[in-house]
Amino acid sequence: MKGLQQKNALITGASSGIGQAIAIRLAQEGANIAINYRSSPEGAEETEEIALQKACGDIENCGVKSLLVRGDVSQEADIIKMIDTTVDRFGSLDILINNAGIQTESPSHELKTDDFDRVINVNLRGAFLCARETIKHFLSRNSAGVIINISSVHEIIPRPMYVSYSISKGGMENLTKTLALEYADRGIRVNAIAPGATITPINEAWTDDPEQKAIVESHIPMRRAGTAEEMAAAVAFLASDEATYITGQTLFIDGGLTLHADFREAWSA
Ligand code: NAD
Repeated sequence: MKGLQQKNALITGASSGIGQAIAIRLAQEGANIAINYRSSPEGAEETEEIALQKACGDIENCGVKSLLVRGDVSQEADIIKMIDTTVDRFGSLDILINNAGIQTESPSHELKTDDFDRVINVNLRGAFLCARETIKHFLSRNSAGVIINISSVHEIIPRPMYVSYSISKGGMENLTKTLALEYADRGIRVNAIAPGATITPINEAWTDDPEQKAIVESHIPMRRAGTAEEMAAAVAFLASDEATYITGQTLFIDGGLTLHADFREAWSA
C-alpha cells in the first residue's frame, strides 16, 4: 500500500490477536514495527518472527526493522519509555496503533471499582496517553503522523455485563474525533476501526466451542466471525497514503453486525 515503506509504526498489545496481525501486515507493507507487549515476550517474539518471514522471505536483511518493547499501557512511565525507545531505535515514529485492550464480565451493580478502573485505564486512558506522547513527538519534528485506535462495535452498541468495556470504547469514539479535529491542520490523522466478533484469544470462551461459536455467528448478518487479518487490512489502508484525506472516522468491520440484524425480516405484516 502506498506510503508505508520505511514508515515507523508502534503497535500496542501486539503479542496476540488483532495487534499481532496488524504488526505482521504493516511489516509486509514495508513498515518498521515496534511490537509492544505487557509482560512476557514470547508472543511478541512470535509476532516478530512471522512478520519478518512474511516481509522478507529468505532474504536475510530486507530493510524491514523490528523491535520488541515491553510496556504496560496503564502505566504512564512505561508509555513514555516505550515511545522513547522506539524513537531512539528507529529515529522517529510515524504511526501509532492503539490496540491493547482487556474486558471483564460482571453485572454492573456488582462490578468492583478496581475492575472498572483496570479496563478504563488500559483501553481508554492508555490509548489517550499513548496518543498524547506520540502527538508530542509528531509536533516536535513538525511532521505528519497517523494514529489508529482499535475500538469495537461496542463503541455504539451497549454491552450489558461489560459496562467498563462498553464505556471505554464509547469514549474511544470521542477520543478519535477530538484528537482528529484538534490536530487536522498539523497533518496528523486520527482514525479508528471497530471490529465485530473476531477470532482472537480475547474470545476464547466461544471461538473454541463449536456450539457457542454457532450461536455468536447466528447473530452476524454475514454468518461468520471476522479474522484478525481482515482487521489488519483495514488498518494498513487507514495508515497508508491511500487514506490521506480520511480523519476522525471509525470504520466498522463487522460482517454487518451494526446493521440491526433483528430487522432482517419484517416484524409484522
Ligand atoms: P487479545 O487478547 O489477543 O489482544 C489484546 C492484547 O492487548 C494482548 O496482546 C494483551 O497482552 C494486550 N494488553 C492487555 N493489557 C495490556 C496492557 N496493560 N499493556 C499492554 N498490552 C496489553 O484480543 P484481541 O481481540 O486481539 O484484542 C485487540 C483489540 O481489539 C482490543 O482493544 C479489543 O478490545 C479489540 N476488539 C476485539 C474484538 C474481538 O472480537 N476479538 C472485537 C472488537 C474489538
